[in-house]
Amino acid sequence: MNQLISKQRTYFNTHETKELKFRIEQLNKLDALLKSNENLLYEAIYSDFKKSEFDTYTTELALLYQDIKDAKKNLRKWAKVERVGTNMLNFPAKSYIIPEPLGVCLVIGAWNYPYQLTLAPVIAAMAAGNTVIIKPSELAANTSAVMAKLINENFNLNYLKVVEGGIPETTDLLNQKFDKIFFTGSPQVGKIVYQAAAKQLTPVTLELGGKSPAIVTEDCNLKMTVKRLVWGKFLNAGQTCVAPDYVLVHKSIAQEFLKLLTAEIKKENFLVENGNYTQIINDRNLERLSQLIDADKIYYGGEINASERYIQPTVLHNVTFDDAVMQDEIFGPILPVISYSDLESAIQQINKLPAPLSCYVFTSSKNTKAKILKEISFGGGAINETVMHIANSNLPFGGVGNSGLGSYHGEAGFKVFTHYKSILDKPTFIELPLKYYPHTHTKMSWIKRFLKF
Ligand code: NAD
Repeated sequence: MNQLISKQRTYFNTHETKELKFRIEQLNKLDALLKSNENLLYEAIYSDFKKSEFDTYTTELALLYQDIKDAKKNLRKWAKVERVGTNMLNFPAKSYIIPEPLGVCLVIGAWNYPYQLTLAPVIAAMAAGNTVIIKPSELAANTSAVMAKLINENFNLNYLKVVEGGIPETTDLLNQKFDKIFFTGSPQVGKIVYQAAAKQLTPVTLELGGKSPAIVTEDCNLKMTVKRLVWGKFLNAGQTCVAPDYVLVHKSIAQEFLKLLTAEIKKENFLVENGNYTQIINDRNLERLSQLIDADKIYYGGEINASERYIQPTVLHNVTFDDAVMQDEIFGPILPVISYSDLESAIQQINKLPAPLSCYVFTSSKNTKAKILKEISFGGGAINETVMHIANSNLPFGGVGNSGLGSYHGEAGFKVFTHYKSILDKPTFIELPLKYYPHTHTKMSWIKRFLKF
């Protein structure tokens, strides 16, 4: 690891990766590599957890292609030296800010959208002119292997290199000195990464998870609410960091909501064979999820096929905040529904839990929307929609508090891999003697005139 990083550092110090032409060439190369190997990518992800081509293209590859396109289109603007004003005290001078790459970066990915979550930060790091060591999640072993094969066989390893492995290999990497660590995963492992980075004073971005609520108020468009909720929850069999984790529904519409919700789930016919559902990633997660299904609270679903790693979309009702399913992020196809009688207390309940990555509000009332947006802290979210805010690269994506630190996508991604170097640039033909000794009363009164406090 040490050698690899030091080779990347030596290469970074040649300054080649800083050239915009180089950055664009490498982004084009990655784009072409992914496009010409889509079949390999589809096969690998299908063998990991039977994710379909449609879902892989729409929720992973299309987002990566869009990121590359955006980065190429905007790179000159993002990387431009920015002139800023100079204050009187520094007169005469120019002031400007130079965006420069941080250096050798480590990107640690998660398994649930393995291509998108691993490579989107890599694209941002490349656009910003860095070298990158990439550590995909070992839980999606085939997608990790295919990313390693494609990248390591086609890129200069002093520029981009995939290192495969689990906890020991990641720990080894974390013991090294990087110039930036970008981590996607659980808050628990996020803390380990943060501690390791602190030892080297390495800046980090942590993209974590949490229990993202959906609030369904009595004045919402119920039919549309149910449709969008069901899609966002059961996409990828619920293994989505921004999936609605649980629903708070106003008690006056709770029964109608449950009825429509069930009808929508049945209509969608979520089956792996249909291509609109995936397997649970491994036996450990299947076991963990099955423990969260309280048989007495099943409103719909609950069927489990362990050998197929299948859990039927499951709706739990009469759930309380004390139930096991409400203690941690679910990260699977189980939807607890809790009814509330007044919005104030619903907001208080949400605020007792750590700040989530997302929050979804289904309402037609401007006041309700404004109240929730003001009173609940969360990473980002949507009104009358789920999940789709992540697909707008103008919206920085990230958590707050327990759900993460920093954000990316679009220009925000470029920024997290960039240092903004501030420069005061002074000519030498003139010098105002005010700051130099001897410090006299006259000088002091001139300084006060300049400062005008
Ligand atoms: P995880 O934290 O278990 O693993 C993430 C990465 O950390 C993997 O590459 C893994 O190899 C590594 N890792 C695991 N244990 C480690 C240890 N002890 N020391 C060092 N490295 C270790 O997360 P996961 O199971 O892959 O993903 C699920 C979690 O990630 C959920 O909480 C989910 O919400 C979150 N997530 C967040 C986002 C986001 O964009 N914010 C996206 C996807 C997933």
